[in-house]
Amino acid sequence: MSQTPRIEAALFRHLLDNAAIPLIGSGIGSLLVAWAQYGMLPGKLALAWLAAVYLTIGLRLLIIRHYRARQAKTEPSPAEAMRFALSVGLSGIVWGLAGLFLIDTSPIGMVVTITAIQAMVMGAALTLSAFLPAFYAFTVPAMLPLIVVLASRGGTADMALALYSAIFLILIIGNARHFNNTLRQTWQLSFDKEDLVSALTKAHDLQSTLAQTDGLTGIANRRRFDAALQQEISRHQRSGGQLALLILDVDHFKNYNDTYGHLAGDACLQRIAQVLGKHLHRGTDLAARYGGEEFAGILPATELAGALWLAEQIRSDVEKLNIEHAASANADHITVSIGVASLPGRQLGAPGELIDLADQALYAAKQDGRNRVVSAPEKPA
Ligand code: GH3
Ligand code: MG
Ligand code: MG
Repeated sequence: MSQTPRIEAALFRHLLDNAAIPLIGSGIGSLLVAWAQYGMLPGKLALAWLAAVYLTIGLRLLIIRHYRARQAKTEPSPAEAMRFALSVGLSGIVWGLAGLFLIDTSPIGMVVTITAIQAMVMGAALTLSAFLPAFYAFTVPAMLPLIVVLASRGGTADMALALYSAIFLILIIGNARHFNNTLRQTWQLSFDKEDLVSALTKAHDLQSTLAQTDGLTGIANRRRFDAALQQEISRHQRSGGQLALLILDVDHFKNYNDTYGHLAGDACLQRIAQVLGKHLHRGTDLAARYGGEEFAGILPATELAGALWLAEQIRSDVEKLNIEHAASANADHITVSIGVASLPGRQLGAPGELIDLADQALYAAKQDGRNRVVSAPEKPA
């Protein structure tokens, strides 16, 4: 999987995080160089150079601050990242100018200047190689004048120093590229891991949703119903509140299947499930397929009267679907019978007891002629 844009963004972030560190080195190193060169050059030149270094440091601090503030809001575009690299190049140019001091200097001035420039380049390899354009923008202009000036001085020792500096530059570039590659691989691995974890989490979530969902109707399945009922019973036993349960059964559904076919039967069950789901809309309500053509609704904190009222809405809405059922013995369209039970927390026992109550009411609804809502008798307190 290609992570390139994410990796580039992460590397740039890494660069910004470390961008201010070399500026400290720049501040100290330039003081040393100016001190070492002060007696050699017309004094003001060393001071002017020092001022240029500090001006650049100030400017770059402002730029870094600007980029950090921007980055807090949005990832920088590749063009913006390039512009940042150019701002790093400013420091490279100023440090490159120090190389010109070597045209005419003392041995101490030579040692201090070369060492300072090389130390700056080494620092750049550590802090800028996350973003190679910034690394090159500093390193090349910083080192080239030094090499050219040394080489053009003509002495053997100067030639050796020029050669040594050129080799140093090549090695440090190689190192920076290697470090850049390692950082890339690290980010690649870290993003791959992140993606894998998120894919696994999604797959796991999907799996647990599927394991609790009825395949035909999309509402909760029996497994989820059982768990939810047990949980609500415990909750109501603690709170003492009233827990209601309704069980709905489609009337003469065997005949419907026989007359219209199993597929039409399936479609009918889906539409009934939709009606049930529409009415059990409170966060804690649960509409479930109990099995076959039977559905159940858990209604937490609901008195019997409220549950009966809701069951009646469901019954009536199913009737309003007006699904033709010529083979029904009690109507010419699909109807449902619903049994309702509601118990206060202190009367709640095993889940089976509440289910039995609602089931008895359902049985009574069937006996009484179907297409109706019947409540289980309330237990005396
Ligand atoms: P009653 O009014 O007494 O409830 O009569 P009934 O015919 O609905 O009851 P019975 O229990 O005899 O029949 C239930 C029917 O429900 C039988 C079965 O084919 C059908 N059924 C159960 N599950 C499904 C299903 O997933 N899809 C379809 N199409 N039919 C189903
Ligand atoms: Mg049945
Ligand atoms: Mg039935």
